[in-house]
Amino acid sequence: MIDSRASAALDWLDEGAGRLMIGNSWVPGGATQTSLSPSSGDRFADIALAGDGEVDAAVSAARGALNGTWGAALPVERARAMLRLADLIDANAAHLAAIEAADGVRPFVEALYGDVPTGAVIFRYMAGLVGGIEGSIKYPSIGYAPPGTSVRALVDRGPVGVVAAIIPWNFPFIMACARIAPALAAGCSVVLKPAEDASLSSLALGKLAIEAGFPAGVVNILTGLGSDAGAALVRHPGTDMVSFTGSTRVGREIGGVCGQMLKKQSLELGGKCAAIVMDDADLDWAAAGLAGSSFGNAGQICVASARILAHRSVHDALVEKLTAAATAKSVGGTFDAAATLGPIITAKQRDRIVGLLDDAVARGATLSGAHAVDNPGYFTQPVVVSGLGEGARLTSEETFGPVVVVEAFDDLDDAIVRSNATPYGLAGSIWTQRWCDADRAMRTMQAATVYVNCHAWADPAVPMGGLKASGIGIQSGREGMESYLTSKTTLALL
Ligand code: NAP
Ligand code: MG
Repeated sequence: MIDSRASAALDWLDEGAGRLMIGNSWVPGGATQTSLSPSSGDRFADIALAGDGEVDAAVSAARGALNGTWGAALPVERARAMLRLADLIDANAAHLAAIEAADGVRPFVEALYGDVPTGAVIFRYMAGLVGGIEGSIKYPSIGYAPPGTSVRALVDRGPVGVVAAIIPWNFPFIMACARIAPALAAGCSVVLKPAEDASLSSLALGKLAIEAGFPAGVVNILTGLGSDAGAALVRHPGTDMVSFTGSTRVGREIGGVCGQMLKKQSLELGGKCAAIVMDDADLDWAAAGLAGSSFGNAGQICVASARILAHRSVHDALVEKLTAAATAKSVGGTFDAAATLGPIITAKQRDRIVGLLDDAVARGATLSGAHAVDNPGYFTQPVVVSGLGEGARLTSEETFGPVVVVEAFDDLDDAIVRSNATPYGLAGSIWTQRWCDADRAMRTMQAATVYVNCHAWADPAVPMGGLKASGIGIQSGREGMESYLTSKTTLALL
């Protein structure tokens, strides 16, 4: 059964459901696929699958926009269209949240009061950066100018061009906004391919982009399979940059193609993020914060605190508090107002999490907090894992589920070495009142973001990237927007 709010939202989406958005028109794809609702396992909607022809058409539309009115638009006109889109997002929040909750894993209330307004803020923040895009004049340091002349270099900054944006399913609406907004601020046009398991909110954003008055081709939304539409977008000679958020495995593949084609890329990839809890930490605050960043979105957060290294003196108390938080979770569907832990995106993903837990138990781990889940959709229980043996998959593999491993340590340096012993370098945190310990972690944890006394916070104004296997490039903040710019130099003898 699909919630009536989601059915109403599909009516509102109208022809946008089940079609592709190319050049401000809704067009059919070659084939369709059913998008399920993970809360029930039921069909939510059908999505069109873009093939090579549709990818080609979308890239041409995007190029046409750059060569036409969008490319010629004044910066303030770009900002004005983005601000109109932000207002439309706010005005249609209930429909957007219902679509998000029915198609994927985001609880309706969190989407309504969190994700959707955040999407609007992202467009407003990025619109505010448009006026600050400036070039510069350079004065030569070598005297090549003949007497009576002068040499000037003008460094102009402009859009990279057509951006292929490919996003995952865990926060699909925020992710679509976070990849489209900076590209538009920079003056690029975008072809977005959302994840096949949660595409509908991207189509809804496309509908609002048409209403906001963006010229045809500025924003194009192609639903479809990653291996098909996604791969075709990456290797298309007409896309100038690939902005990818997803797994490290796919990121490596995409990076390989971009490398071969010498195409600009920004890759935001997986993580295995550690939280270090010191002996002096405010334990109630740490337990509440880490329960949020470990079990939030049922653990399907790239920067989730999946691994906690607790000072031996607080280890048992922290396990107890996290276990209490896990036990208190009420597991249920995304429209269930009483639920505090939502579904896992697919049955396959749920089975993978169960496999990681089986491996941990086989290696002598103790699981606590788990309780029976009686729901028709795809769910796993929130679990606290302690006493994990050497070599367990949970120590190194990304979990992407409501599972937190707690290990004891005696010495901060040892904890930092252990936190760094993973291929990833996305984020980490330290919980302490001592500035010197926080400072040591900030300097030596191999993570692009280090949180102090918090974890998994994100903000449109704050740059976010990944070290090691967690990616290349920066998203969010001014730095994120600037990654969609390129510079061109004019050297003139005057
Ligand atoms: P994924 O399997 O890598 O898929 C991500 C996107 O890439 C989807 O749209 C997917 O399409 C597409 N794709 C798959 N294969 C492709 C190919 N060969 N060429 C082009 N596109 C392709 O990741 P996921 O399972 O959806 O998402 C979870 C992962 O995302 C986790 O690893 C998580 O850590 C990461 N993530 C990272 C961040 C960050 O900011 N660093 C944020 C959120 C999530 P299909 O859906 O059709 O397969
Ligand atoms: Mg779905």
